[in-house]
Amino acid sequence: MQALIDYFSTMPSLHRTILLVGGITFFWMLEGIFPLFQFKNIKWKHALTNIFFTLTTAIVNLSLAFVMVKISDWCVAHHFGFMQWTDQFPLAITLIVGLMLFDLISAYSIHYLNHNVKWFWLFHIIHHTDRNVDTTTANRHHPGESILRLMATIAGVFLIGVPIWMIFLYQSLSVVLSQFNHANIVLPNKLDCILSLVIVTPNMHHVHHHFQQPLTDTNYGNIFSVWDRLFGTYVEFDNKKLVYGIDTHMAPEENGHIGSLLKIPFQQYRDIQKMSEEKRSTTEE
Ligand SMILES: [Zn+2]
Ligand SMILES: [Zn+2]
Repeated sequence: MQALIDYFSTMPSLHRTILLVGGITFFWMLEGIFPLFQFKNIKWKHALTNIFFTLTTAIVNLSLAFVMVKISDWCVAHHFGFMQWTDQFPLAITLIVGLMLFDLISAYSIHYLNHNVKWFWLFHIIHHTDRNVDTTTANRHHPGESILRLMATIAGVFLIGVPIWMIFLYQSLSVVLSQFNHANIVLPNKLDCILSLVIVTPNMHHVHHHFQQPLTDTNYGNIFSVWDRLFGTYVEFDNKKLVYGIDTHMAPEENGHIGSLLKIPFQQYRDIQKMSEEKRSTTEE
């Protein structure tokens, strides 16, 4: 266990990059063998758009990581936060409880807010506009959302007093598991059922990418599935019947171009109910 702490305390940036690129490559190959949907001839174009947003996410995270490190060091130095008060517990318990609490604050909660605060949603839409969800969708975030997510992570670090090794361990798990749960793959039902008792599986997260409510507002989890089960946002749905995207932005010229995607948060908010009422009244006229 001490070796794990030592490694993640000083995890080199090169290893983080290898994990990101290696993960995408691995799941990309798996998608070729066990695909859920056959997306036609757009895999590379689609991947390039998502890789652009993965790069902007990485740039935001790398350039502001020092704030996170400073806050974590401060918590350790001042013995501040829950994680700093668990000296008497076995390390394995501290590890599991710490990762779960961090997941609740910095991932599940912020994702819930992304869907329920209009201003946050305008940035989060970009993640949901993807009509061909696959492993490259994992980091398809508007730079504005990447900053919001980082702020949520920093808040989590401060509230729980997370040591730096646990931040890097959580982020490493998060990179690979979100590539896994976005991957365009089919898992055997039994395996998916067992895994989804603990972690968010592709079956579970794909539902979140359905283009219409109420499914869009379900399965918010990032690593652990327990939060959706506990807070009543867990839903099961036949993945083969899913239609990816978001009903307010289904036009390819809006959801397939980097420039249009970057502009979305600064456009007028679209209310799907109002949009369909207007459509109905124009057809009736
Ligand atoms: Zn979402
Ligand atoms: Zn997603």
